[in-house]
Amino acid sequence: MEQPEIRMGDKLHEGKAKVLFATDDPGLLIQYFKDDATAFNGKKKGTIEDKGVCNNSISSNIFRMLEGRGVKTHFVRRLSEREMVVTKVEIILVEVVIRNIVAGSLAKRMGAPTGQKLSEPIIELYYKDDDLGDPMINRCHVRAFSLANDAEMDHIEKEALRINELLVEFFSDIGLTLVDYKLEFGRGPEGILLADEISPDGCRLWDTNSGEILDKDRFRQDLGNLTGTYQEVSRRVSSTVKQT
Ligand code: ADP
Ligand code: UDP
Repeated sequence: MEQPEIRMGDKLHEGKAKVLFATDDPGLLIQYFKDDATAFNGKKKGTIEDKGVCNNSISSNIFRMLEGRGVKTHFVRRLSEREMVVTKVEIILVEVVIRNIVAGSLAKRMGAPTGQKLSEPIIELYYKDDDLGDPMINRCHVRAFSLANDAEMDHIEKEALRINELLVEFFSDIGLTLVDYKLEFGRGPEGILLADEISPDGCRLWDTNSGEILDKDRFRQDLGNLTGTYQEVSRRVSSTVKQT
């Protein structure tokens, strides 16, 4: 289908991994994916060649898959190798982490072995504030600091569990175990939309057969083969879904 032209406007925000641009449509933004990588709250910095291309492709395909199953997302279309057109939202400053298997900060907090399967998914909330190091919060903080209202949070938590079911199955079909990941939601013109990105930058993905780490932990832990890892996830994700 013929796509309407879109013109790139001013740079609105340059973040750690992406740049947001205005467009000639006030309701749409262009999200540009960079190769920059950061970890440990920005203390470790680097570049992973081709990461932006892979993350744009992975995220686009995943958003399209979720939309096809009734999840409302900010994804409009993939514009180029590194660019995605998205619906402009007001980002809710609550990062939603969903966990299926013990890893990362949960292993430390609970003194539990990495790799232990959880009997049910855990949803955690973090205050999206880099200067504070994204501290963990709960529904009381969300309410008391007016980050979101109860109806919004009820919707977000319900949606997060549904997204989790879809993503666990999606990754399982391509031989990847979805350990944990972070979601961001925003207020759009017609309600709450899943926003930001879903990629190995914000997910822990393990090869189901070998257990090999196939996500940003390779950068955090200096495990090497960074570009190859992002390309491998991108290749597997593309293999299951229709390309634009
Ligand atoms: P950060 O800003 O945390 O360093 P990124 O480099 O990923 O992160 O920058 C992307 C920024 O854009 C994030 O702050 C994210 O919350 C925000 N964002 C993602 N999707 C949208 C959207 N549809 N509308 C407005 N802002 C968005
Ligand atoms: N995560 C993220 N951004 C954040 C915090 C966490 O994308 O600001 C993701 C992270 O990649 C992992 C999951 O959320 O997949 C859980 O992260 P955890 O709390 O274990 O922290 P980490 O060990 O990554 O510091």
